[in-house]
Amino acid sequence: MRKPYDACILGAGLAGMHTALELQEAGLSVCVVDPKSIAGGASGTPVGLANPATGRFANRSWEAEQCLTILNSRLEQLSKSTGKEFYRKSGVLRPALSIKIANRMQENVTHNDWLPGMVEWKSSSDIEKMHPGLTCVEGGVWIPVGLTVHIPEYITAMHSYLETKDVDFKTGLDYQLEETEHWKITTNKESFTATKLIVCAGIYSKSLIITKNLPFHAVKGQTAQLRSNSTLNFDHAVSAQGYFSKINSNEFILGSTYEHNFEHEKPDQKGKQYMLKRFRNVQPDLADHSEVISQWAGVRASTPDRKPVIGAIPGYKNAFVFAGLGSKGLLYSAYGARILKEYLLDNAPVPEALSITRF
Ligand SMILES: Cc1cc2nc3c(=O)[nH]c(=O)nc-3n(C[C@H](O)[C@H](O)[C@H](O)COP(=O)(O)OP(=O)(O)OC[C@H]3O[C@@H](n4cnc5c(N)ncnc54)[C@H](O)[C@@H]3O)c2cc1C
Repeated sequence: MRKPYDACILGAGLAGMHTALELQEAGLSVCVVDPKSIAGGASGTPVGLANPATGRFANRSWEAEQCLTILNSRLEQLSKSTGKEFYRKSGVLRPALSIKIANRMQENVTHNDWLPGMVEWKSSSDIEKMHPGLTCVEGGVWIPVGLTVHIPEYITAMHSYLETKDVDFKTGLDYQLEETEHWKITTNKESFTATKLIVCAGIYSKSLIITKNLPFHAVKGQTAQLRSNSTLNFDHAVSAQGYFSKINSNEFILGSTYEHNFEHEKPDQKGKQYMLKRFRNVQPDLADHSEVISQWAGVRASTPDRKPVIGAIPGYKNAFVFAGLGSKGLLYSAYGARILKEYLLDNAPVPEALSITRF
């Protein structure tokens, strides 16, 4: 049997791949195990926004600047090293759809301690100029630092890059876990060991015995790809009652549903109707002149306070978790992986807001 890997990461989504990058760069030998496929979970969502002004009222998200800085540097690094374009500095426009929302958004933009240039209040006429046809009541928020990322393509780029750095990927095979002197992982093809085990399996962490008691709950989300019968006259992403973002001159991705009760993980008619109804409230002319050409669904792992969980898994030696990224996987994954690396290798504390001990 080969000598133990320094770390075996379970799950090849945003959390697992960013963690693999951090640990590989720190000089550890790393393998990534995923019984499904690379980006086989929520990270398979076709397009995601990295938007630090979140929720209905555009609240500043946790450590927004740090999260965006590290994500941007990863996107740039991977884009350069693989020569692939999988993200756009598109900005995100958030029109208010009622007076109450406009007032709360404006308050958050003014008083939420943003760094200069991160968010800007726009009047209704500004928004009409930026995006003709968009519904807007009294203005909205423009987030120039917001990003549109083709998440599976980004993960594919991380995968190719990490393979060139001798990270081993073991995908598409079921496995057994055993706690021996090291962690032992056995598939029907091979057995190998690792000193540290890191669970980054999103909602599937609930199906692993060592993380089944952590407070993750499943929230299904659906997206749809639409084709417009005319050229789209905007480049930014829009977030209001869901979001939409352009992927080429006349196609865009529309998201998303938040289903806390669901019977299956596939896209369905109900999800499509829900998204289209809300989309019609935001841009009726585009809704009337577009058709759905495909749909996608995945399941997010959310936590009671909607922040990820990072730390040592209670009751096990050398076993750690980084999961529960909810609907902010892009914002949280790159910075969360950095925090986990510093915790594992430098004994740096995990911030209380993300620590496993908070539950
Ligand atoms: C419809 C939708 C829209 C979204 N939009 C956005 C957005 O606009 N912006 C944003 O930031 N986020 C968005 N998200 C959320 C984002 O996709 C997630 O937060 C993120 O992908 C979670 O990454 P993860 O690595 O924690 O989990 P996952 O991506 O779920 O990865 C878990 C991995 O574990 C693997 N796995 C399964 N079982 C096992 C096992 N037994 N052992 C090991 N591995 C296993 C899976 O195959 C998978 O590859 C959206 C999600 C959905 C569903």
